[in-house]
Amino acid sequence: MVILEAKGIKKYFGGVVALSNGNLKCRKGRITGLLGANGSGKSTLSKIIAGVYRADAGEIIYEGKAVHYRNPHEARQNGIALVFQNLSLVPDLTVWQNIVLGMEKNRGLFLENEEARALSRAILENLMPDLDIEKKVYQLSPSEMQVVEIAKAISSNPRLLILDEPTAALEQHEVKNLFEYMRKLANEGVAMIFTSHRLWEVMEICDDVTIFRNGEDVATIDFDKEEKDPDKIIGYITGE
Ligand code: ADP
Ligand code: MG
Repeated sequence: MVILEAKGIKKYFGGVVALSNGNLKCRKGRITGLLGANGSGKSTLSKIIAGVYRADAGEIIYEGKAVHYRNPHEARQNGIALVFQNLSLVPDLTVWQNIVLGMEKNRGLFLENEEARALSRAILENLMPDLDIEKKVYQLSPSEMQVVEIAKAISSNPRLLILDEPTAALEQHEVKNLFEYMRKLANEGVAMIFTSHRLWEVMEICDDVTIFRNGEDVATIDFDKEEKDPDKIIGYITGE
C-alpha cells in the first residue's frame, strides 16, 4: 500500500535548482532507499516531505490526499518524522528531554518526568541500551548524538520515518542495532525512507531504492523483482 507519493517536486534556492523533478513512492511496512551523489537533492526532498521546506511545484500525496505541512511539527502530528542529517537536538537539554521533544503536539511536555524517562529508555533499549539518559546532549559523542536524534524521531510513533544519513556517525555494531530496529518498525507497518552514502547498507536494509541525479529521480529498483546489482546502481548514480 502506497502511503506517500511525491510527484514532480521542484525546489529552487535562489539561482540553485535543488530539485528539478523529484518523484518518490513509499509503502507501508517497506524501507525505501534514497541514493544519489552529494547535492543530488535527497535532503531537500526529505525536508519537503517533512514540512521543513515548501515545494515550488509538484505534489505530496500522503495517505491518499495532497498535503502541505507548514513545519516539521505539523508533519509529525500527522505521522511523518525526520531524522535530520544535521541533527536537531538541543545541546543543553538531557538525552531524555530531547527525546520527548519529538513527541506529537508537545505531549512530551505534559508527561510526568518519570514517564518521559521510561519512554526514552524504552526506545533506547533497542538502539543504545547503555546510554545515560541524564547526560546533557553536548556531553555526548557523535554516535550517541546520532542515536538520540533517531530516538527523538521515533518517539512520535511515525507512520512514515525518514532517516537522512543516520549511519554516518555510527560504528558498525550501532548500524546493526539500527537496522534491526528499522526492520522491527517495518514489520509493525511503518514506512521508511533511508538515505546513506554506503551502497552496501542500502542493499542490506532496503526493500527498494530510488536513485537521484541532479535533482531528479533517474531509476527505481524493487529488490523483490530485480537482483541487487551494485554496478547497475552505481551507473545510475554517476550517469555513466
Ligand atoms: P543531497 O542531500 O543529495 O546531498 P541537498 O538536497 O542537500 O542534496 O542539496 C541539493 C542542492 O541544493 C545542492 O546544490 C545544495 O547546495 C542546494 N541546497 C540545499 N539546501 C540549500 C539551502 N538551504 N540553501 C541554498 N542551497 C541549498
Ligand atoms: Mg543530504
